[in-house]
Amino acid sequence: MTILYNPMETAQDIMQKNNAIAEADTSVAVPSDLPDEISQGITSGGEIRRIVVDRSACIGARPCVVAAEKLFQIDEENLAYVVDPNSVDQDTVRVAAESCPVLAILLYDKDGNKIFPQ
Ligand code: SF4
Repeated sequence: MTILYNPMETAQDIMQKNNAIAEADTSVAVPSDLPDEISQGITSGGEIRRIVVDRSACIGARPCVVAAEKLFQIDEENLAYVVDPNSVDQDTVRVAAESCPVLAILLYDKDGNKIFPQ
């Protein structure tokens, strides 16, 4: 599925859209340990299929945005959210997740198994 991102969309719009797409995609298993307050995105392929920001853990430190600005952005609450889960390659997704000082970015495979952090 091709998703077009409208620059006029607010962070809330993008978050709601990506969360709705993730919840509707039954081909990617829902992890049993998902945090309550999340922004998530489903990738179109590769080992990493679900990218999650735990917004209750995020401190707005921004290295994830520096590592992958098309994947993560910061909203008006100074919390990260997923913009386009297919905007960068899987190595960059992992680098961005690893850059988070509080491990607020969680990566899962298609079966709902956590890839990072372990
Ligand atoms: S690096 Fe982590 S704490 Fe910083 S904005 Fe990104 S998710 Fe939030």
